[in-house]
Amino acid sequence: MKPAIAVIGSHSALQILKGAKQEGLSTVLICLRGREKLYARFGLADRMISVDTVDQILDENIQALLEEEEAVFIPHGTLISGGGLEELERRFRPKIFGNRFIFRWEYDRELKNRLLTEAGIRTPRKFSSYSEIDGPAIVKLPGAEGGRGYFIAKSPRDFEMKITQLMEKGLLRRGEERNVFIQEYVIGVPVYPHYFWSNVEGRLELMGCDRRYETSIDGIGRITAEDQLELELTPTFRVIGNIPLVLRESLLVDIFEDGERFVSAVRKLVPPGMIGPFCLEMLCDEEGRLYTFEFSGRIVAGTNLFVNGSPYSDLLFDEPMSMGRRIAREVRTANELGILDRVTT
Ligand code: AMP
Repeated sequence: MKPAIAVIGSHSALQILKGAKQEGLSTVLICLRGREKLYARFGLADRMISVDTVDQILDENIQALLEEEEAVFIPHGTLISGGGLEELERRFRPKIFGNRFIFRWEYDRELKNRLLTEAGIRTPRKFSSYSEIDGPAIVKLPGAEGGRGYFIAKSPRDFEMKITQLMEKGLLRRGEERNVFIQEYVIGVPVYPHYFWSNVEGRLELMGCDRRYETSIDGIGRITAEDQLELELTPTFRVIGNIPLVLRESLLVDIFEDGERFVSAVRKLVPPGMIGPFCLEMLCDEEGRLYTFEFSGRIVAGTNLFVNGSPYSDLLFDEPMSMGRRIAREVRTANELGILDRVTT
């Protein structure tokens, strides 16, 4: 029997469903209540189950249904942002495409930093205490998501001032300032390569690349420097969309090397290693040096740009190959070869 592809209705679900269909697999959509109509419009889900919250995927009836369909569950950003990842590791019985043990490393900033350091990838310098700030630093508040609630501090004094302001505005509780994550602010441009590690082919593939469109940081340059100063703006980094990117070909050497290093580190620290899609969130400075400040151990939303393939996937495949389809291709091929257990956990 061919496995079905199951996904939660959000993030990159449409692309994943479409990819499954292209590979001749049936689909199960676990749909957040209220979004059924949206997904019905695209006619890509063979079966739809409604849930009120994401953590209901752990409910016995949903797990049983997925097992009955022999479904392979495809994780995406919505699953990670909800937390509760240890529960998922232990209690979710259906097969997950990818390494279910890496999500915790993505969610936890300290673990994330450890993995990147182990990989030997260049990362922005980390400040253990705000008193060490000796140049532009980005301060990431606990629980801040998608860059909302980040701020830039130039010195320990500047940090103290901005923390006090946040507390006065009720955006930070007393004591929470001890849990902030402080990193060197890299002056450069963001670069987000979409990788795919194939256990079937034994190779690392570059499937696409994007940059994020972030408010308000990407909009501040639209007003004059004079106005910027007068308004005393504090930029925020809330992602609202993605823009396609094609890199200078010479940069691809480092892009692939960093990807390979990451795969090796995951193999060592998070058995059974990287499987399928991942992204290294990078900044490129004026010397062309790449700094990785985050990673995603699963499909990223930037791949939604390339439902019909990207300039990079086109070089590797002679047919339109989205990340969603690439995932389904790996599941289908692994199943045909009898090695589904090598691409699922
Ligand atoms: P994150 O939530 O860590 O993905 O970061 C959100 C956004 O903040 C990124 O897309 C970048 O624009 C910006 N950012 C994060 N870390 C850094 C850094 N070390 N230097 C410069 N910009 C950063």
